[in-house]
Amino acid sequence: MGTLFKNGTIVTASEMFEGDVLVEGEIITLIGKNISSRGHEVINCRGKYLMPGGIDVHTHLDLPFGGTYSNDDFDIGHKAAAFGGTTMHIDFVIQPKGGSLHDGLATWREKAKPAQIDYAFHMAVTDLRDDVMNEIPSLVNEGITSLKLFMAYKNVFQVDDATLYKAMQVAAANGMIVMVHAENGDVEEQLRLNLLAEGKTDPIWHYSSRPPEIEGEATNRAVVMAGMTGCPLYVVHMTCEQSVDALRRGRAAGYPVMGETCVQYFHITRDKHLGAPGFEGAKFVCSPPVRNSEHHEVLWRAVKDGTLQVVSTDHCDFWYEGGKGPWQEWAKKHNGGDWVAYEQQNPSYRRPGKELGLGNFSKIPNGLPGIEDRLIVMWHLGVNSGKISPTRFVELNATNPAKIFGMYPRKGTIAVGADADILVWDPKKRHTISVETHHMRCDYNMYEGMKVKGVPVQVYQRGKKLVDGEEWLGKNGDGQYIARKPNAPVL
Ligand SMILES: [Zn+2]
Repeated sequence: MGTLFKNGTIVTASEMFEGDVLVEGEIITLIGKNISSRGHEVINCRGKYLMPGGIDVHTHLDLPFGGTYSNDDFDIGHKAAAFGGTTMHIDFVIQPKGGSLHDGLATWREKAKPAQIDYAFHMAVTDLRDDVMNEIPSLVNEGITSLKLFMAYKNVFQVDDATLYKAMQVAAANGMIVMVHAENGDVEEQLRLNLLAEGKTDPIWHYSSRPPEIEGEATNRAVVMAGMTGCPLYVVHMTCEQSVDALRRGRAAGYPVMGETCVQYFHITRDKHLGAPGFEGAKFVCSPPVRNSEHHEVLWRAVKDGTLQVVSTDHCDFWYEGGKGPWQEWAKKHNGGDWVAYEQQNPSYRRPGKELGLGNFSKIPNGLPGIEDRLIVMWHLGVNSGKISPTRFVELNATNPAKIFGMYPRKGTIAVGADADILVWDPKKRHTISVETHHMRCDYNMYEGMKVKGVPVQVYQRGKKLVDGEEWLGKNGDGQYIARKPNAPVL
C-alpha cells in the first residue's frame, strides 16, 4: 500500500506537467498519468502543485552568538521550517576555539537529537591549526563536504587570507567546497569604532559599519583565491551589486564560484526597516546588512541570469525583547500552552535577545527569523510577480541546494528513486504573514502583515505526512542526518 498523489501539477527544476506520483515507503516509485489507485491511499491534488520539499542550506539553530543563543532549535525550528514547506536544512557546526572539528561536531550532534526534519552539517572552521588542517579530510567520512570560513567578525570567527587560502587547497584536494562569509572584517572594525566614538549608536549605524564596498572587496578576494586554487567556492548571503559583480567576473573567467542570497535581501530595506524609529531597527540587524531597492533589483537579475544559484535564509532568530521573558507568553499564545512546560524544563530559553544592543548597535545579536517564511515569500515576490517561473523557484530553493551540497538526486527533486519529500502547494490560497500565526520561537516577524498567495497545504517527508493545514503530525526523531557526497558539481 502506497500513497498516490493524483492529478497534480508536478514541478521540477526543468519541467511542469500534469500527473500522478506514487510513493511507497519513503521513496517515490512511479510518476505517470492515470496510475491505478488500487490498494493505495489517494491524495487528490487537482489544482495543486507537487514540488520537492524546500532545502535551506544556511541556518543557525541554537547558535551561541553575540552574548546569547539563537532561539530556534532542532525541535521547534524544525516544526516552523516544515510548516513553511522546508523539509531539510544544513546547519553550521562551529569549531570551538582551541578545540577540534570533531569536538564541534559532537556538540551539534547532541543539539540535533530531537530532529523532526532531515538535516546535514557544514563545518565552520574558526581556528585552522596544523592538527585541524590534518583533520579536514576525515570530515568527508562523516558526510560533511563543505567548510565555512568567515572573512568578518574580527576576534570571533574571522580567519586571515593565508588560512582561507590553505583551507581552499585542502578542500580542493578532498572534493570539498569552501563557503565564505565575505565582508572585510578589518575595515568593518575601523568603521564601527569610528561610528561609536562619534556617538552613532542606533541600529541604522549598523549599515554604515558594513557598507556594500567591504562585501564586494571580500567577495572578490575569495573569488580570486578560488580561481587560483581551483577550489569550488560558494559565497553565502550575497546582498549587493558590488559582490554580485565580483562573482559574475569570476564566473566569466571560468572560476568554480557560486553564490546564494537570502529572501530578506529582496525585500527588507535599510531606510524603512533598519532605519525604523526608536530601537525597532534592531529587528532587522543581520550581517551583511539589508540594502535598499536598487540592490534588490540587482539580486533579481542575478537569480534570473544564473549568477546566483540558491536562495536560503541564514535563519538565526533572537527575541526582540528577550530581557522581558516573552518566551512564556509566546508559548501560551502560539501553542495553546503546550510548550510552556517544555520551556520551563529548559530555562536556558529565557535567553536575552536584541535588547543587548540598546545604546550600542554593535552589541545587537546579528540574525533574523526566516526558516518558515522562505518559500511563501519567494513564491509571492518571485513567482506571483512573474520575476521567476515555478521551475526556477524549485531550482533555487531545492534542486540546486541538493546538487551543490552533494545530496542530489536523493533530495531536491520529484523523481523515481528520490526521497518522497513532497509539498502539496495551493497556488490560490491566501495567507497573511504574522507573528500571531507563525511557528518560529520569535516575538516578531520581519514580514509582518505581508499578504501572500500560494502556500504549502500538506508537507511530506520521506513519505510521512508532517503537516496537514494547521495540524502538526511529525515527532521528535523523525528527522534523519543526511550524509553528503564529495565532488559535487559546480553549477
Ligand atoms: Zn549565517
